[in-house]
Amino acid sequence: FPGDFSENTMQRQTPEVLFCFIKPAEFDNTKLIDFNENLSVEIGLGALENDKDFLVAQNLPSNVRTYATAYAGHQFGNWAGQLGDGRAIYAGEIINENHQTEIQWKGAGATPYSRHADGRAVLRSSIREYLMSEAMFHLGIPTTRALSISKTGEDVIRDIQYSGNPQKEQGAVVVRTAESFLRFGHFELLSARNQTDLLKQLADYTIENFYPEVNSENNPNKYIDWFQAICDRTLKMIIDWYRVGFVHGVMNTDNMSILGLTIDYGPFSMMDGYDLEFTPNTTDLPGKRYAFGKQGQISHWNLATLANAIFPLVNDADALEKILDNYGKKFWTDHDKMLANKFGLDEVLPEDERFFTDWQQLMQDLNLDYTLFFQSLEKAVLDIKIDDFSNSFYRNLNENELNRLSNFIEKYQVRKLKNKISETESLELMSKTNPKFILRNYLLFEAIQEAENGNYDLFFKLKEALENPYENRFPEFNQKRPSKYDNQTGCSQL
Ligand code: AMP
Ligand code: MG
Ligand code: MG
Repeated sequence: FPGDFSENTMQRQTPEVLFCFIKPAEFDNTKLIDFNENLSVEIGLGALENDKDFLVAQNLPSNVRTYATAYAGHQFGNWAGQLGDGRAIYAGEIINENHQTEIQWKGAGATPYSRHADGRAVLRSSIREYLMSEAMFHLGIPTTRALSISKTGEDVIRDIQYSGNPQKEQGAVVVRTAESFLRFGHFELLSARNQTDLLKQLADYTIENFYPEVNSENNPNKYIDWFQAICDRTLKMIIDWYRVGFVHGVMNTDNMSILGLTIDYGPFSMMDGYDLEFTPNTTDLPGKRYAFGKQGQISHWNLATLANAIFPLVNDADALEKILDNYGKKFWTDHDKMLANKFGLDEVLPEDERFFTDWQQLMQDLNLDYTLFFQSLEKAVLDIKIDDFSNSFYRNLNENELNRLSNFIEKYQVRKLKNKISETESLELMSKTNPKFILRNYLLFEAIQEAENGNYDLFFKLKEALENPYENRFPEFNQKRPSKYDNQTGCSQL
């Protein structure tokens, strides 16, 4: 530990050191936009809303020592060396009987890990993280959460279109929480520095505190079992992403939570029309490394990178390889099980592989709306009319395409006859698997445009809608993306 840093301290590498104390920036015209009281009570903070200063990291009590951590990572497949919390500062953690919660401000100032950037966040990206992380939570998907969003009163300069013409934007701070914000990259950093003792300490801390499913006493396979558990949690998260059509956009290993949480909401987007190649990240467009259809493979690649990092603790390449091989197989088993649920099927039969492949090809070729397609299936079980599906068309389908769709639906009805569960049970399965509200990118875009002009009506309406995503409480949001947004990409919203 090299001592306290202030914002004026030169940004730097911090060899041998895992974190630095760092003071947040000063903001003198802050304004609270929203406070998530349910979350506050859940983690044991109570009615913190009264302490608006805390939510923007101002006038902190003297017992709060704020810090930022160092991590490393592979970005777009390449080793990036030391990174770290460049615009996240920890307030510390709250420990309750059953769980502990780490608290961070995102956008509260530069840290030694900010490299050439300013440590700030803009209102636009803050609204995106605030709403989307809560949307994921209510969809039942493991995620970091958001406690508050405030404006800093400061202007922040950004050139989001890489136009060479930077614009002033409103600065904001989100307070976010998680059991832990530890990333694959924290372990990669220690491994790359050959700090095996510290690597072991960090792994032991993680297992003891966050992995109750791993036997940590007198277990010669402790680290292997832990790696298996990390793979299991990561797989669950990725399958959930596929279930609802979430595309993260920047699955670098520094953005992979060691707890299998969805973390670091940047250029993400929900997918509207089905497209395996869809990526909201314009900087990823040439290779489409992080496209919708690649997230399974990439999670596998990231886990292999983590396996390399923790190898010094395990010293058994075969054991790690076996777990990774199984990950690939289990991905498809769990993926097909998830798809079966979306279709209201009680089990996956051998013939379903073909059925699912045909479905995927149909969706890809016709670019049907992923979310609305399953709702139409739910509605149309008894008497299928092709018209029931027209709300998921993003273009006019020709006769051949319409025939393909109706043939598929007939096949689906035949397949459904093999269900052992009743039709009512099947519909229940569908309705708890298929969301009726997803936070589409264009909705976020519209909410942000309004909010930038001081109108938060849509922001609050979306916040209400996302709390019950499996109910159709807001039919006005349960619609395909309007055509005026056809060419919009998520990254313009970074
Ligand atoms: P990301 O791809 O958003 O996860 O960011 C990669 C790295 O850049 C992380 O270490 C971030 O902390 C850092 N970073 C991103 N934006 C900023 C910013 N505005 N100021 C300082 N660091 C940043
Ligand atoms: Mg990140
Ligand atoms: Mg980020």
